[in-house]
Amino acid sequence: MKKKSGFTLIELIIVIAILAILAAILIPNAIGYISASQKAVCDNNIQQIIRAYKTQRAFKEDLKIEEVIANEGDKYFTSTPTCPSGGSYVGYSLGDNIFIMCTYHKDPNSSLDIAVESYLNMYQFTGMTSAEIAAATGNAVKYLNNDSLRTYLMGSAYDGKWPAFPSSVLDRNGISGDYYIQPYVDASSAGGKNPSKNVTVYANTNDGSSTSDLWRADLIFNPENGKWYHGNNGSIIRVMNKSWNEIKQEMDANGWQPLL
Ligand SMILES: [Zn+2]
Repeated sequence: MKKKSGFTLIELIIVIAILAILAAILIPNAIGYISASQKAVCDNNIQQIIRAYKTQRAFKEDLKIEEVIANEGDKYFTSTPTCPSGGSYVGYSLGDNIFIMCTYHKDPNSSLDIAVESYLNMYQFTGMTSAEIAAATGNAVKYLNNDSLRTYLMGSAYDGKWPAFPSSVLDRNGISGDYYIQPYVDASSAGGKNPSKNVTVYANTNDGSSTSDLWRADLIFNPENGKWYHGNNGSIIRVMNKSWNEIKQEMDANGWQPLL
């Protein structure tokens, strides 16, 4: 009888199979662990940015949130908070409320995140001159014009369709149907001192593919407190030619309530 040396083919196949099974178990766990810790770092960064902004605004009333996010002049952090997954931070502040979102870690099922993004997509243009808008849109839009900016955003920031309102939130509030979240800018009052007053984020059943009922709002986002509002008994508001303040007054007058 010849003495066996080394591994037989069967033994090798078994070893490789066991290694493959181990890898299949361990690698996804490791990836899950890494992405969870990256998300935790990112959430902590956002809290740091909000704290720094609140503190520094006490010294500089017109401080822009972008200055803090970018850590301009290394004034706000010893090292600039950076998303470990490669996202970037965007946000706005209205009054005491500050909303900052990571472009990587945003939650596609959060009605707040979709609204904040929609608000920022339009809001970014409100402080710009016509020349700046033309430059920012590659000459697609020449001045602050709601129709052109919506068309531009639909193509550049969305896949030709406004994002859907998360159905879990609608279900929770007993609202049936599909709704789509979109921004409106009231360019008529754009020369005003506070351009944030001109952007309204709302939702209706038109995903942007139809031209009917464009300005009908079944649901309206309040950027000041981050809550979505809804009218009783199917009450709707038309956003056309109205500033955010006018829309807010109409919501109050019609008893619109925040969603749960
Ligand atoms: Zn992130």
